[in-house]
Amino acid sequence: QLTIVPSVDSTNSLASQALENGSGHGASFVAEHQSAGRGRRGRQWLSPFARSLYLTTIWEFTNGAAALEGLSLSVAVAVARALRRYGIDGLALKWPNDVLAGDKKLAGILLEMQGDPAGLCQVLVGIGLNVDLRGCQTGSIERPWIDLRSVAEVEPERNKLLAKLLVELAAVYREFAGGGFGVHKDEWLALDAYKDAPVAIQLGEEWVNGIARGVDAGGGLVLDVDGVNRTFYGGEVSLRAG
Ligand code: ATP
Repeated sequence: QLTIVPSVDSTNSLASQALENGSGHGASFVAEHQSAGRGRRGRQWLSPFARSLYLTTIWEFTNGAAALEGLSLSVAVAVARALRRYGIDGLALKWPNDVLAGDKKLAGILLEMQGDPAGLCQVLVGIGLNVDLRGCQTGSIERPWIDLRSVAEVEPERNKLLAKLLVELAAVYREFAGGGFGVHKDEWLALDAYKDAPVAIQLGEEWVNGIARGVDAGGGLVLDVDGVNRTFYGGEVSLRAG
């Protein structure tokens, strides 16, 4: 079931309301414009009309919230698969939830969970993917960004991209339900934007510096901190080039 609306506050909010009204597993929601598109920690996702893709899918997983560790990385793998046909130079994934092209953010991913943390969970997977932001007011974007039109070898067509994304997401959800993030780990590592690079991650008020050493089978970031590998989990951790 696919719902397409002209404008909404955010597609995750739309999906959440639909969930309350009985919509469920496999439903997808697309908007042409978001007035309050969200990133993590309440940050804004700039969402001009008809220039990008704003999409939320609902998928049910049966084994509780703990088993969903790493799902945002698997979703990034699905986005990368959907983008493969565009031949993007420098397509890379940034832990835990971004898709980059040449170090600039092309797509953001926001996971929200509902249901029983110990059992049946509904996951709302929100994706914002910049397609063609030529002429848009982009001054409020705080970090380097890029759109697909600027990096694709072929002219991006939003309907085709959406169809491909939906197919790849469903495949990735099924694979994840079977084997967790471990199934996608090698694919993720092959696109790791910060492989062996100095980075800093923010844990609350504190910054930890180290060398990025990829991810483990649970989707945790492995960081070499003063010669000792430490693994960091959690959706609220930010990573920067160090
Ligand atoms: P961090 O970089 O701290 O890990 P994040 O990757 O989780 O954050 P999100 O919360 O997913 O980032 O997205 C919010 C960030 O994306 C903000 O820095 C915001 O300025 C930027 N942003 C907002 N709209 C867009 C857009 N259309 N394209 C690229 N970046 C955007």
